[in-house]
Amino acid sequence: MKTLKIAIQKSGRLNEKSVELLKNCGLSFDNYKSSLISPVSNFPLEILFLRDDDIPEYVQDGIADLGIVGENVINETEVDVAYLQMLGFGKCSLKLAIPNNGVITKLEDLNGKAIATSYPVILEKFLADNKITADIRTISGSVEISPGLGLSDAICDLVSTGGTLKSNGLIPFGDVMHSQAVLIGRKGEEENPLIVELMQRVQSVLRAKETKYVVLNIERKNLEAIKSLLNGIKSPTVVPLADEGWVAVHTVIAEKDFWSKISQLKAVGAQGIVVMPIEKIIL
Ligand code: ATP
Ligand code: MG
Repeated sequence: MKTLKIAIQKSGRLNEKSVELLKNCGLSFDNYKSSLISPVSNFPLEILFLRDDDIPEYVQDGIADLGIVGENVINETEVDVAYLQMLGFGKCSLKLAIPNNGVITKLEDLNGKAIATSYPVILEKFLADNKITADIRTISGSVEISPGLGLSDAICDLVSTGGTLKSNGLIPFGDVMHSQAVLIGRKGEEENPLIVELMQRVQSVLRAKETKYVVLNIERKNLEAIKSLLNGIKSPTVVPLADEGWVAVHTVIAEKDFWSKISQLKAVGAQGIVVMPIEKIIL
């Protein structure tokens, strides 16, 4: 069967998480900073390390079969690719931001103003949708310093915590798009058995990330109260303890509900609660 190619970012914000995801999928490969291509020794796959800007086109044109890249880059390059899986990392927003001097207070105030961005395609569509006519100044980096230099009246840039905006005297003004890393493929290739196999591995890793394995002790008389709080993969596993009146309960809890569930479990008498990460969940 033909060896697949997956394109990931060579260095930058998505590199580490992309490599970690592939390693967690059981793929074995060298990750030397100098290599542009790395064969996987235990799966018919090669990893291409690229600038993120090039990834969507490589996948669209079939040079790579798969890619991991931010949705912002996909939208900016206007490619036609299949979204195979949202990956939940690299989360950020493309935001408008303005100097904190009160000149711009509402979206319409951007009419006739200059906006600096590295995302002219996305910004142009956003402005058109909102019936704003502004002068888009495309710059490739350090967009946040352009109002201070007098190059623009506002910016449109990627923000995760907002710290960079703040330290440049800018305030967020509106969301243009939300983004996260996504696994993309070529349209029409979704049924390729190797892609299906890889997708199953990716999904089992993501599922495991969203959950924790929990073991706790409870008096048998409180078991029903515990069961009603838990809805694990199936019903929880209940194991008798040496002390007759007690049992150990094994279950899986969604990461997002974790703290609220733990306090509810304690409230109905759970003791000795042990929480463990899960590596994979195969359904
Ligand atoms: P490359 O050298 O590969 O072109 P880059 O400088 O264009 O890298 P990075 O800054 O490494 O890109 O960001 C890669 C992606 O990470 C972005 O396209 C975006 O999807 C995501 N990301 C998450 N948080 C942020 C953030 N705070 N700022 C910028 N990008 C972010
Ligand atoms: Mg880039």
